[in-house]
This record gives sequence, C-alpha cells and structure tokens, in this order.
Amino acid sequence: MPPERRLLLVGAGHAHLHLLRHASRLDAAGYRTTLVAPARFDYSGAASGIAAGGRDPAEGRIDVAALARHGPVDHRAGRVTDVDLTTRTATTDDGTRLDWDLVSFNIGSVVDVPPVATGDATVVEVKPLSSLARLRERLEHPPTGRGHHLTVVGGGASGLELAAHLAARADTDRVHLLEYGPRIGDFLPHRAARRLVGLLEGRGVRIVTDAGPVRVDGDALVLRGGTRLAHDILVVATGLAPPPLATRSPLGGRDGFPVRATLQHRDHDDVYAAGDCADFLPMSLPRLGVHGVRQGPVLLAAFEARATGAPAPVYRPQEHVLSILDLGGGTALAVRGRWWWLGRSSLALKRRIDRRWLATYRS
Ligand SMILES: Cc1cc2nc3c(=O)[nH]c(=O)nc-3n(C[C@H](O)[C@H](O)[C@H](O)COP(=O)(O)OP(=O)(O)OC[C@H]3O[C@@H](n4cnc5c(N)ncnc54)[C@H](O)[C@@H]3O)c2cc1C
Repeated sequence: MPPERRLLLVGAGHAHLHLLRHASRLDAAGYRTTLVAPARFDYSGAASGIAAGGRDPAEGRIDVAALARHGPVDHRAGRVTDVDLTTRTATTDDGTRLDWDLVSFNIGSVVDVPPVATGDATVVEVKPLSSLARLRERLEHPPTGRGHHLTVVGGGASGLELAAHLAARADTDRVHLLEYGPRIGDFLPHRAARRLVGLLEGRGVRIVTDAGPVRVDGDALVLRGGTRLAHDILVVATGLAPPPLATRSPLGGRDGFPVRATLQHRDHDDVYAAGDCADFLPMSLPRLGVHGVRQGPVLLAAFEARATGAPAPVYRPQEHVLSILDLGGGTALAVRGRWWWLGRSSLALKRRIDRRWLATYRS
C-alpha cells in the first residue's frame, strides 16, 4: 500500500464536483482529500432565469457539504485566500493553514470589468454568481409608479441572456443593452445573431453598439460622446476573467493558472487546475461550464494514474461544443459550430441536459 498523500481541492466547480462524487476512488488510490469551498454550488446554466426572477434558486443549487460528507472528504466551508508553494500550505479566509502534497484549483471566474466602475449600489456583476443573486433581490422592489429601468453592459452570452430575460418581465419598462464593439453576438453564426437581435428588439430592448468606453455616474451610465442613460439597476456582463488567486505569482498567470494538457501546472507537477480559472496552454478555451464538466474525469484519472505510476491522461477539448442560451419567455438559442436553432425545442433540450447533470449530484 503506497503512503497516504494529502490532496487539497480548492473550490467546488464542475470538475471537482466529479471528484467529490467519486471520492471513494481517491480514497482507494491512497489520497486523504480535503476540500475548501462554499457549502453550496450554484449552477450557471440556470443562473440567468434565476437572477431575472423566473426560476427558483433551488433549481440550480447543489449541496456541496452533503456531497463531501458522502465522500469521504474533509470539507472546510470557506475560501482559500493564499497559497504558499515553498511550505506547501494554503490559507483559508478564517486563517486556517492546510498542508498539501497535491493541490487542485477549480475556483471559476469573476467578471471582467474594465471601464465600468463597480461598488455602486445600483451595479450588479454577473460573476461570481453570489453577486448576480443581488439582481433577483433588487427586482423584487420596482420603483413606485413605474416599471424597472435596466441597463446591461456586454453583448456576450451572459449579457444577451440577461437582457432577453429582463425584457420578458411584466414589470420592466425599459432595457438598454450596451456593447463596446460594433455588433452584439459576434461569437454566433451571423444569421443566428440577426435572429437574436430581432427577438431582443421585439421585446423592446434598445441596443447600443460602439458604446464604450463608458462610466458610471450615480444612477446613470455616461457613454462615449456624453449621452447619459439613467438606470435603476446596471448589470455588468463584460466577459469572464480569472479570479485574483489565479493571476497572482508564483502560480498564477495573466489568463489564470497555466496548465498543460494533463491539467498540471506548467512548472509544478503537484499543482493542477481546471475550468475557468485555468489557462489551458495547448489552446485557448472559451470560459464555459462544459470544459470543467469534461475535465472532471480527466482529473480523477490523473490522480489515480499518479498513485500507480501510470502515464498521465490528457484533456482533449471537442472542436465544437453545444451551447444553449436561455432567452426567457420559453425560448432558447442552441448553437454548435455553424449549426443553430432558435425556439422552444432548444429550451426543452437545455432543460433536459441541465436536469440530468444536476440530478447526478443530488441523489
Ligand atoms: C449569467 C451566466 C450564465 C452562464 N450560462 C452558461 C451556460 O448556460 N453554459 C455554460 O457552459 N456556461 C455558462 N456560463 C459560464 C459559466 O459560468 C462558467 O464557464 C462555469 O461556471 C465555469 O465553471 P468552473 O467549474 O470553472 O467554476 P464555477 O462553476 O464558477 O465554480 C467555482 C466554484 O469555486 C468557488 N470558489 C471561488 N473562489 C474560491 C476560493 N478562493 N476558494 C474556494 N472556493 C472558491 C465558487 O464559489 C464556485 O462555487 C454562464 C456564466 C454566466 C455569468
């Protein structure tokens, strides 16, 4: 029997949820596993519908603490704030220091907020999802005598989803969708983007392109050229970026923890990272939950392989992944490569995929 090794999991993102579910295999391979993560996980696939008030938060929630108990995994509820490579320790937000032989990060992303000031009470960032939860709370209290005036900054996937959902609410008077570039939905097939623009305009969304740089001034956004757009709530969806822990030296890099195809750190074999916080060096990956999901089995196999001295498995991303934007109002846009479909059946497909994935962590 090989000596027991201390495996520290930081964050319970999609890949680490898979490890938690199969923790008995880690145990059998000789690992004593500790997890530092908040006690619950919120699924981003359901986030827009939940934040815009159409769905119950419980629909997207996974009980991380219960999953770890089933483990066996020693779960410390909280966050890692610092990692020391020389002493091989991690410090948590309550000051506890934890030793590790191997460490793996799956801590997601934060919103990329270059020109928009945050910290103002009217501003809500889409990531982390704990911040997006404030949108739902704010929407419960419309201003007296009129409906909500809402502005969404960012014409990427999450900005489009949220603008569409918010415009579908009965108590919304006005939604502005701002994009710094010349077009919204640039990542979509051209005709799909046009259909999406038609859907948004049909719901009354006012789209402003070439908007940046913009700044917040009280409860208004000031556009290039000086135009002021007043809002009750400003939603910042300007793209996803690695969290500070993943950009700090000596382990982090500008685009997150740099990892090889084996999900091992470029310079440290005992350090792993998966999902949005990883900078996958073989090719640039979009920040999508599906990569974290597919990296879970690779990570598990990697830890088992180390225990037996077998070669390290590698992550091979699919060339085209299916992505489905939930647009509220009972419709969704499914896209895979150049193929796309906008309609109720896309939403039914998304709900089926989401339900199946969530169910594996609830039974
Ligand atoms: C509104 C919105 C909708 C989206 N919809 C989709 C979609 O439909 N499909 C899709 O594929 N992608 C979607 N995305 C993108 C998706 O959110 C991310 O790509 C995905 O969540 C990344 O998964 P992950 O496993 O890397 O991390 P996450 O799912 O973000 O999980 C990371 C976990 O780590 C925890 N954590 C963070 N910091 C620490 C720390 N220091 N210590 C310990 N724990 C920590 C967090 O609390 C979190 O639970 C959406 C994003 C947004 C903002």
